[in-house]
Amino acid sequence: PFDVLVVGGGPAGAASAIYAARKGIRTGLAAERFGGQVLDTMSIENFISVKHTEGPVLGTALEQHVADYDVDVMNLQKATRLVPAKAEGGLHEVTLESGATLKARTVILSTGARWRQMNVPGEDSYRNKGVTYCPHCDGPLFKGKRVAVIGGGNSGVEAAIDLAGVVAHVTLIEYDSDLRADAVLQRKLASLPNVKVITSALTTEVAGDGQKVTGLHYKDRNHDTMHEIELEGIFVQIGLVPNTEWLKDSIALTPRGEIEIDHRGETSRPGIFAAGDVTTVPFKQIIIAMGEGSKAALSAFDYLIRLPVD
Ligand code: FAD
Repeated sequence: PFDVLVVGGGPAGAASAIYAARKGIRTGLAAERFGGQVLDTMSIENFISVKHTEGPVLGTALEQHVADYDVDVMNLQKATRLVPAKAEGGLHEVTLESGATLKARTVILSTGARWRQMNVPGEDSYRNKGVTYCPHCDGPLFKGKRVAVIGGGNSGVEAAIDLAGVVAHVTLIEYDSDLRADAVLQRKLASLPNVKVITSALTTEVAGDGQKVTGLHYKDRNHDTMHEIELEGIFVQIGLVPNTEWLKDSIALTPRGEIEIDHRGETSRPGIFAAGDVTTVPFKQIIIAMGEGSKAALSAFDYLIRLPVD
């Protein structure tokens, strides 16, 4: 069996595997797609100490750094089931889609998350060409430009407030007749001169010139009329979905599906840890996921050295 089995090969999983392997303990890593969300982006400008990098470059660097260590990497392997140990110190079991079962003394879950998409024409083709999902990552790219934020929940309204300080103008589009964000955020939003809120609006299309986004089409749901807004950027903020469908029966999740962790990265089950976007950690970012992954690995090691000698 493994001492530490990491499930997920994004920034959190890679950091966990390296920190665990550096303790000289038997480490495995199973990932559906090594690299994770990082592979879906081009420009990364907030990975501190690296002024600029690109997703695929960082993805390759993660893979090479892990390969430097004695880690049993199982790429293109999707985990479908976790059976926690019956007794403290026993072996946890992770079943893969292939049918294989891996056993481990500790498990670190780092299966990340995915942004909910609008699923409208143009969204995919203009992804990273004006359509983005991350204000912390891409806000500065739209300095002085016009953008829309899709979604009037907390994350959408937070994004609009954040972006209003950077871009020329923000249009916030909400499907419902009211925003769903906390009242204090709504008051803050209403106080900003360069933000317009449009409610009861369904985004129907992302418009572009073939190279980049030029506008957004929406339907006014009250009057059944179509409208177009000219702009350069669209921030989609309609939800981040944690990849925990396979964990529902085995560990405690929040109503939104995030894995509940304590300040050491431990889940509701002793010996099972979690890190990165898949957890309740606030702010989903590469550098945070790496820190959390390292922390979870050190916590797993701490747990292992306290197990009774058998
Ligand atoms: P992920 O990167 O999501 O990795 C999850 C891993 O788990 C993957 O290997 C996946 O294949 C695997 N996995 C999932 N389910 C299973 C399963 N059942 N079995 C096995 N493996 C599984 N952050 C920044 O800091 N700066 C940026 O500029 C930036 N830009 C971004 C641009 C885009 C387009 C996107 C989508 C995200 C961006 N982010 C950025 C966010 C950043 O990518 C994430 O915060 C970070 O990748 C989270 O790392 P993670 O390891 O927790 O999860």
